[in-house]
Amino acid sequence: MELCGALLLARLLEKVQNTLSTKELNFTCWSDSKVALAWLQGDTNRWEKYVANRVAQINKIIPANCWHHVKSEENPADCATRGLTPAQLLHFKLWWNGPDWLSASNIHQEKLMTYTTETELKKANCCAITYNSCQVIDTLLNRNSNYKRVIRVLGWILRLSNIGKQRRSLNSKNKLDERANNEVFKCLSPEDIMRATELIIKNTQNGYYGNEIDCLKKNRSISTKSSLLKLSPFLDNSGILRVRGRLGYSTLSPDAKHPIILPATGRLTELIIRDSHRDTLHGGARLTLAHLRQKFWVIGGSRTVKRELRQCLRCHRFKPNRNIQLMADLPKERVTPSRPFTNKGVDYTGQVDVKINKGRGIKT
Ligand SMILES: [Zn+2]
Repeated sequence: MELCGALLLARLLEKVQNTLSTKELNFTCWSDSKVALAWLQGDTNRWEKYVANRVAQINKIIPANCWHHVKSEENPADCATRGLTPAQLLHFKLWWNGPDWLSASNIHQEKLMTYTTETELKKANCCAITYNSCQVIDTLLNRNSNYKRVIRVLGWILRLSNIGKQRRSLNSKNKLDERANNEVFKCLSPEDIMRATELIIKNTQNGYYGNEIDCLKKNRSISTKSSLLKLSPFLDNSGILRVRGRLGYSTLSPDAKHPIILPATGRLTELIIRDSHRDTLHGGARLTLAHLRQKFWVIGGSRTVKRELRQCLRCHRFKPNRNIQLMADLPKERVTPSRPFTNKGVDYTGQVDVKINKGRGIKT
């Protein structure tokens, strides 16, 4: 009720301000409800919708620092609700003049108090879900058609899970200050992207080349039947399987010298090829493969890339097969048997050389 009263007052003051628009007016408002004052001073996002809407309307007209607290016994507005007889009202100073301190000269310099309340706080909907990281990655890969989006979503998931771990280690959710909390939700850092990329690649490689990775971790040579044998694979510092190759002394980037191994099938390979195809502005198979090999080595590269590119709708739409002209029937003379030169003739024109004599050395 006090909040509605404050809103009514704010609307009245807005009308007064519009009427006396030529004059600069300073408002100081009072309420006897500390709860209402706490609502006005707090962030609107913290309150339930009903309170938040009214607080936003009031703050738009009267800033929160213009509001002060008045004791209930000094509040003239209370007289009306308590009830007074006309005779009492006639001599009721509080109604006609307000409290004594209201006429003091330093009324506008009153110290601003801070009020807090837990009433009408918005309830945060929290839910705890336990998920295996492999399940999360598989779900993300299968539900998205964009590799970069998958990486970013996974980056956010990793960041939020890290915050949860930090909070649990601090044993209190309030120990992370509010500013740090806001920083957390601003944007992803390159480290977040890197961690998400590594996790998603390792998940796929473990699924396809688990035996090879186990052998390499135990410093054993990989099986001679392995499809990776020719690539001399090795595990980098992050545990990602890479091609050793013969470019160790070249000036290429580390990723190009030792590209990450990807299987010929699998959702991650599909998404990475599509991403590379988009990065090259729907380039052909060779261009896409060259771009891809700056970072990844796809097993059965050319064939795998061509297979994926055949499914690109945009390329299909802009490179349609041309219709072949439907030809008319052949002329009757060309399909009817007849003696030679019945319908065609050879026109001999110009000089005709004739051999005059037989024998050696005779020229025509
Ligand atoms: Zn395309």
